[in-house]
Amino acid sequence: MKRRKFIINTGIISSGIKFGSMFKVNLPSNPDIHQFEVGQFKCTILRDLMFSYKASDYFINAEESQLEKYVNRYNFNPEKIESPFIALLIETPTKKVLIDTGSGYSENPITFRGKTIPLKGKLLRLLNQIGINKESITDVIITHFHPDHIGGIFSDKELNYPNAKFHVHENEWNYWTSSKSDNENPLFKVFVEKNIQPLSNYNLSLIKGDEFDIESGITSIISEGHTPGQVALNLSSEGDSLLYTSDAFLHPIHIEELNWRTNYDNDHELARKTREKLLSIAHTNNSMINSFHFDFPGLGFAKKKNNKWKWTIKE
Ligand SMILES: [Zn+2]
Repeated sequence: MKRRKFIINTGIISSGIKFGSMFKVNLPSNPDIHQFEVGQFKCTILRDLMFSYKASDYFINAEESQLEKYVNRYNFNPEKIESPFIALLIETPTKKVLIDTGSGYSENPITFRGKTIPLKGKLLRLLNQIGINKESITDVIITHFHPDHIGGIFSDKELNYPNAKFHVHENEWNYWTSSKSDNENPLFKVFVEKNIQPLSNYNLSLIKGDEFDIESGITSIISEGHTPGQVALNLSSEGDSLLYTSDAFLHPIHIEELNWRTNYDNDHELARKTREKLLSIAHTNNSMINSFHFDFPGLGFAKKKNNKWKWTIKE
């Protein structure tokens, strides 16, 4: 397999993660920006913000003694598992493709049931910092319609990527724009009303079926379970490949314990099948994986040992 080339900012180097051969570019050192290449594709992972979750939501059916082992190994606080929200920018020879849009930025917070929710995502500012004008984005792929992935489509009522084609899976669209999602978290529905429904007036393209070629070298893979129409993205260029798994795994432990359920999945059995399917695709293609909620930048590999998968950040 062709050796991957990585462009890594000093923030990441100092955290001790090393991938393949490294070379620096003249980027301002910024711990929210991580750049690397997949064949001809220049990829940038941008950290929109940091959030935290509880182990009791992440691992709802885990036995306490089992979880204890992982708490020590991964060194996290079960009351506060830190997690980033990210977006992945792919610059191909002809396109600028953005995967997911972060939580959004607006001077006006959302008010919901008497609560004020600020929208302070950094994605637009980070794109600016790497010299990407939001008008130059040609395609936006939304992996699923949870707030941390769709919040940045509009700022107030203004479309943030006015020249882009928006790609979403038709199963996700049909679920969230119909009464099928009536029992969803009402806050999630507010985000869908603000950021998804108005897309029907813009350049919207529906992804169909299991595997679907969105652009040359960018294929979506249906990854239902977390939501009914979540997609993962397979990037492939010059023998290199990357699998963006979105929220199929919320934590590396979900790679090791495929039966551990989260409160955030819509259908647990489908979610488990999707995890197996994605791991097998990554294994077959010898793909690096990018996972949305893992420690930033969320890059690594799933290795199979004694019939069990293990997450590692080294190839
Ligand atoms: Zn998410």
